[in-house]
Amino acid sequence: MAVQTEKSNRFLNFINGEWVASDTNEVITNRNPANTDDVVGQVQKSSLEDLNNAVAAAKTAKKEWKNLSGAARGQYLFKAADILESRQEEVAECMTREMGKTYPEAKGETARGVAILRYYAGEGMRKVGDVIPSSDSEALMFTTRAPLGVVGVITPWNFPVAIPVWKTAPALIYGNTIVLKPASEAAVTCGKVMECLQEAGIPAGVINMVTGPGSVIGQGLAEHPDVNGITFTGSNKVGKNIGQTALARGAKYQLEMGGKNPVIVASDADLDLAVDATISGGLKSTGQKCTATSRVIVQSDVYETFKEKLVAKVKEISVGDGMKEGTWMGPSVSETQLNTVLSYIEKGKEEGTLLCGGEKLSGEEYEKGYFVAPTVFDDITTDATIAQEEIFGPVLALMKVDDLEEAIELANDVEYGLSASIFTTNIQKMLSFIDDMDAGLVRINAESAGVELQAPFGGMKQSSSHSREQGEAAKEFFTSIKTVFVK
Ligand code: NAP
Repeated sequence: MAVQTEKSNRFLNFINGEWVASDTNEVITNRNPANTDDVVGQVQKSSLEDLNNAVAAAKTAKKEWKNLSGAARGQYLFKAADILESRQEEVAECMTREMGKTYPEAKGETARGVAILRYYAGEGMRKVGDVIPSSDSEALMFTTRAPLGVVGVITPWNFPVAIPVWKTAPALIYGNTIVLKPASEAAVTCGKVMECLQEAGIPAGVINMVTGPGSVIGQGLAEHPDVNGITFTGSNKVGKNIGQTALARGAKYQLEMGGKNPVIVASDADLDLAVDATISGGLKSTGQKCTATSRVIVQSDVYETFKEKLVAKVKEISVGDGMKEGTWMGPSVSETQLNTVLSYIEKGKEEGTLLCGGEKLSGEEYEKGYFVAPTVFDDITTDATIAQEEIFGPVLALMKVDDLEEAIELANDVEYGLSASIFTTNIQKMLSFIDDMDAGLVRINAESAGVELQAPFGGMKQSSSHSREQGEAAKEFFTSIKTVFVK
């Protein structure tokens, strides 16, 4: 078996069952966003030739992999799950050092990756089609499923274990081979996931990883004539371009993109629950979640009380290195991301009233990292930039409304439709929200971030290309239906 670099954090590309250096001889070096003196690891800055080799390997491997039974494919995923579980702490530490989320969150994400692998391992033994009654009494009619073939997997940095796994595991169980292009900013962590799949003994060519700039490797995957499907998670700008490229050459595509997720706090809500969920949903992972709460829409009769409780708790948040015990919120992932967040904060100061935070943190603990204070704005109107654009940082915008109808109208008044929450004890309000909210994930008395792995995940409007990830829903993207008629 090809060995990587003795579990070091220097990763080569994984192509056709071997770890190979890029022909560019160039690397990408990732540093800890909490302390830029800390070099976390390196990955290859690959070329299109590296990508072509990976796609060729995946193309060659696809027939044999497809011909294995689902149960046999599942055995590899069970093994990979055990290996990832045994490396949970090492993988989580790497994640925290590479992209900044706190160590407990990183451990939770790694455990989620393990659970997803096990879920899809079991999926290899579940039904793949239906028998449909034929009007011809002497015929048998049924559906079965065929894999797409080679799938290109392009992932973001904010969930460097869970997202690559929740795309790769269903791709594999349904009989596809893959070429994974992880986000450069978290590619070292993703390399460790690839190692776990390799150690599980998945045959050569079935899984491949090529790292490098999105504009070269990601775009190259989207354009490649031998890539039959592209599954992408990331920003809207990149996603739309990938969708157009794939569509132009007739390849299947799946896009999961941004969010601008509202929470509604109704006058009958449990306010303490709503405050805690708004903070957790909006500020955990430094607000760097597609499902992060960002717009907080509160009915006027509880507005002042809610605001007071919220701001008091936000002021208590401990920000720091995610590896340090007691840290609740880590840094932004990079200097670019920090500067983006700070520029939205400046915009927010023009558009509303700053209640807390609103600055880059300074002092010895913060000087070598990208730390921003958790920030809350008051008096924000729906047309404000910070109420409309995805910030991807720890910034909450408060908006006051008179009734539920106005609240839902405001909640829907954005181009995104990923996740939305309401806090209320009134069943009629819950039902109106479920009916009228344009979001793929509708959550009642629960924070906007998060969905269980066996449930469909995805959004409406500009958040998604509308097919769903996770659970059984993933089958719709990773397979095509064949309708069979036998006489
Ligand atoms: P991003 O900049 O769009 O990057 C995502 C992936 O696309 C990375 O692997 C990136 O590679 C690659 N890429 C960049 N330019 C490309 C191009 N021209 N062609 C093809 N691929 C290209 O997004 P991000 O900053 O990593 O992630 C943050 C975004 O992801 C946010 O908008 C967030 O809402 C979204 N997100 C959505 C979900 C969801 O399920 N809806 C979940 C998580 C995150 P490089 O890293 O090398 O640039």
